[in-house]
Amino acid sequence: MPSVAFYTLGCKVNFYDTEAMWQLFKNEGYEQVDFEEKTADVYVINTCTVTNTGDKKSRQIIRRAVRRNPDAIIAVTGCYAQTSPAEILDIEGVDLVVGTQDREKLMDHIHTLQSERQPINAVRNIMKTREFEELDVPDFANHTRAFLKIQEGCNNFCTFCIIPWSRGLSRSRAASSVIAQAHQLVAAGYKEIVLTGIHTGGYGDDLEDYDLADLLWDLDKVEGLERIRISSIEASQITDKVLDVLNRSSKMCRHFHIPLQAGDDTVLKRMRRKYTVAEYAEKIRRIRQSMPDVAITTDVIVGFPGETDEMFQNGYNMMKSIGFSEMHVFPYSKRTGTPAARMEDQVDDEVKHARVHQLIDLSEQMQLSYAEKFVGHVLDIIPENNDKGVFGEGMIGGYSDNYLQIAFEGSEELVGKLCRVKLVEPGANTSKGQLVRVLEQEPSQLA
Ligand code: SF4
Repeated sequence: MPSVAFYTLGCKVNFYDTEAMWQLFKNEGYEQVDFEEKTADVYVINTCTVTNTGDKKSRQIIRRAVRRNPDAIIAVTGCYAQTSPAEILDIEGVDLVVGTQDREKLMDHIHTLQSERQPINAVRNIMKTREFEELDVPDFANHTRAFLKIQEGCNNFCTFCIIPWSRGLSRSRAASSVIAQAHQLVAAGYKEIVLTGIHTGGYGDDLEDYDLADLLWDLDKVEGLERIRISSIEASQITDKVLDVLNRSSKMCRHFHIPLQAGDDTVLKRMRRKYTVAEYAEKIRRIRQSMPDVAITTDVIVGFPGETDEMFQNGYNMMKSIGFSEMHVFPYSKRTGTPAARMEDQVDDEVKHARVHQLIDLSEQMQLSYAEKFVGHVLDIIPENNDKGVFGEGMIGGYSDNYLQIAFEGSEELVGKLCRVKLVEPGANTSKGQLVRVLEQEPSQLA
């Protein structure tokens, strides 16, 4: 049986795309082997280019695969492949470069390479692409939650971000295809679907008379689906129509990841983000009105060029007053080719790192106070595999709909089942709980 090994760098969308490429190989009778294996026939490296470090790491992994098995076909895909195909083909041993589109032709290229070993550059301009590339992902290895990609690309061109150049402009997946995939995932036993994309909340911007709220209502009707989560949404994309879904659909998770990036208007403007601090805060107020216990998580970039102590402090105070349930904090990292990389007033690394620490501490305090609110509450958890032993011996754990990670005593048999768990001891990252009851039928009974 021929074999393929994958290595994925970067974000959730890239991991999703790898799963989609694996389906293509699987359909041709391939088995998947570990990337550490020396005997794979094909190595696929799905690269990332979000920072300059992403590029460097991608190159290292490619070289590692070439060394591991010089006879194997080395295929490089993803964002870095899309933006710099020539740079990748210069690495000795690379056979194929495919970017972030035309992946349905991947197997044809592999067949060509099997008969004729001539490097192929299959990357073409992504900025002209207007269609969402349909790739089927009917199941996921080692996941209780299923990811469903509904959107690709972004029209925003924030000054720090290269993504529109590597992923192209925003495209939405046809609703009929999203719904069909949702039915398939539910039949495979998944109870929770995470809607994913590069700019997920931009779903529908390129469609006529159909938007994200319409899609959420259509998903709400999918029988057997218990939870719908949106991986990320911009404050401006939470429209009255979306708020209405939150008010009335019982399947929508009480969790929103709404990137803030900075809590000061001058910085936001220089980042070319399309909201002010006041507009963002007002949106959060309205979401909380619709869903009182909602968890709001966010991304923050610290040390953006020109960020003074005062601007940082404004942001710190603003984040504290919002009360996020978690913040992902990143030091600003220059991305060649973006306007921010050319800005003159870059912030010193030392200052950046001190600010990052301050915000991580703040995030941990906020995580704990959010968990404390739920002590004594009974929450629904869908336990995940404890392969890495993260939950401890004899324990199992997973996420509630409002994104609290709870560990409780239980066996692997509970993985994937809907469990009612009482939160007894709050934690900044993981809280402890007690199993009240299992709500559940076997996944196979749903099929
Ligand atoms: S919204 Fe901004 S940060 Fe997000 S992908 Fe688009 S350009 Fe990048």
